[in-house]
Amino acid sequence: MSNFEFENLIVNIPDYPEPGVIFKDITPLLADPQGLAAAIDQISDHFMKAGITKVVGAEARGFLVGAPVAYRLGAGFVPARKPGKLPREVYSQEYALEYGTDELQVHKDSMGPDDKVLIVDDLVATGGTAVATAKLIEQTGAKIVGFSFILELCYLNPREEIAKEYPQEVYTLI
Ligand code: 5GP
Repeated sequence: MSNFEFENLIVNIPDYPEPGVIFKDITPLLADPQGLAAAIDQISDHFMKAGITKVVGAEARGFLVGAPVAYRLGAGFVPARKPGKLPREVYSQEYALEYGTDELQVHKDSMGPDDKVLIVDDLVATGGTAVATAKLIEQTGAKIVGFSFILELCYLNPREEIAKEYPQEVYTLI
């Protein structure tokens, strides 16, 4: 399955959500039975022997990739959510956006020092969300094993951004 043509199932949307931005719409890939299976299988197979105990995905598209990957790895899934969504005690991590800041949270008891964590999302652009998710996981004491994304916007150098703070592997499909 490693030669699957994922590119044909990603649609470029010019000037969305604002002028000058080309948005990568992954919903056709999610809607394609072979495409969805190939993406989830390829990420899962890559980390199958890494001893992952928790997969963490950021709201909201990270949930779509994270939960099926966790299932295939025999791991648990932990959602990193926007503020105010989780009902119990949380760790919080703020991070900078182009304009302003955003924040992600996980339940304090969602993972701990015995956990080996894979961070996933649909797409990595600047790497800001991925680094914030990693810092959030560090607050729990869990160990970060790697990062995986369906799509990497190489021209924004997200690997360099992540590598500044995290030497762990970054594995992407496109
Ligand atoms: P970063 O923090 O790496 O700059 O942006 C990545 C985050 O923004 C991910 O959570 C991803 O879902 C979302 N994102 C940014 N640009 C795009 C895009 O063009 N397409 C999709 N599907 N998500 C995007």
